[in-house]
Amino acid sequence: MYINTTRLQQHFEAMSLIGKIGETGTCRPAMTVLEKEGFNLVASWMQDAGMKTHIDNFGNLIGRLKGNNPTLPVLMMGSHLDSQPYGGRFDGVAGVLCAIEVVKTLTENNIAHERSIEVISFADEEGWRFNKGLYGSKGIVGMLDPEDIERKDKDGISRRQALIDFGCDPTKSAADEYKPGSIFCFLELHIEQGPVLDMGNKPIGVVSGISGPIWWTVKLKGMAGHTGSVPMHLRKDALLGAAEITIALYEIVTQIPGAPTVGTVATINVFPASRNIIAEEVSFTIDLRDIDIERRNKYEKQLRDKIDAIAKKHALEYSIAEDFVSEPRYCANWIKEIIHKQCEALHLEAPEIMSGPFHDAMAISYACDYGMIFVRSKDGISHNPLEYSSYQDLALGAEVLYGTAVEILSIV
Ligand SMILES: [Zn+2]
Repeated sequence: MYINTTRLQQHFEAMSLIGKIGETGTCRPAMTVLEKEGFNLVASWMQDAGMKTHIDNFGNLIGRLKGNNPTLPVLMMGSHLDSQPYGGRFDGVAGVLCAIEVVKTLTENNIAHERSIEVISFADEEGWRFNKGLYGSKGIVGMLDPEDIERKDKDGISRRQALIDFGCDPTKSAADEYKPGSIFCFLELHIEQGPVLDMGNKPIGVVSGISGPIWWTVKLKGMAGHTGSVPMHLRKDALLGAAEITIALYEIVTQIPGAPTVGTVATINVFPASRNIIAEEVSFTIDLRDIDIERRNKYEKQLRDKIDAIAKKHALEYSIAEDFVSEPRYCANWIKEIIHKQCEALHLEAPEIMSGPFHDAMAISYACDYGMIFVRSKDGISHNPLEYSSYQDLALGAEVLYGTAVEILSIV
């Protein structure tokens, strides 16, 4: 191993104290004093690895190790240090700390490089504070919506104000966007946040891409009535329709055994929500994800047909609002090949897996090629203080990231 496992573990342990909740949990919201504390600590490690650091006006922490030819597009690595309100120690943190370890190892081994290398902790990846994530990564590639900065948190603080309080000047953020072509490629190491690697007993996975989600809100309208008197065949029961649609979604996404397609109904509102009134109005959310866009399109069509048929069957009116739709973003084949090669050199059998969750890499993928390395999550648990990846696995991930970076730096 080139990387220093002990140092890496010490960094994880030190970072886990900032925003610590309970024994193993983390609450480190974006653009807060706690995140700033994390940035200061991480910046000191970046500087120790030879990087110059600054916080840009999107709230990203950026460390830069200058190459011999700083005019070349940069090799960028990173992830995020903000956490969920009831999160773990590894989500996001892994990608930042492993990238710093890679740079430290590069400088210790005097690896000459033409390109500059940047490690970024992206601002507000998680998105719960302002109810919309990937702020910093979208920011640097010019993909923010004008309303993003006006969004308010639950205390009424706008993102604009939070950025100013954080020491940023949002009026100058446009200057912090990266010009097209200025990023050579992006590498993100992340914990898997799912059970595939753990169940397969594999420490490392090579990500094939980030699945494209469809997020809908479906509304069904029936007719309220007394649950004791309206005969079954005369009812327009909106909740019954929602139940059938939930099952239909499950059946659609499980048509092909083993396929990575996932579909979920996880929130539901019932009106008037009285035990003796037939549900008149029900709204619920649908989350459908797949890495294969053609299959996803096919399933979307099937689902729309099913909703239509079920609504007709129960004499319901319905509407489907598309809250968010994104196409899958595939990792670059050439980067995947390099990552596979590093895994083989370490005698790791690394399967290719889809990422269901979003990551900062999804935004950066619109600016350059990208690759992702997944590290096994115990029992697939994430966004939970029980989230756990072993330091051994994280060190292996960092070693794979190191080998990948060295090989990419040899390409000029
Ligand atoms: Zn994350």
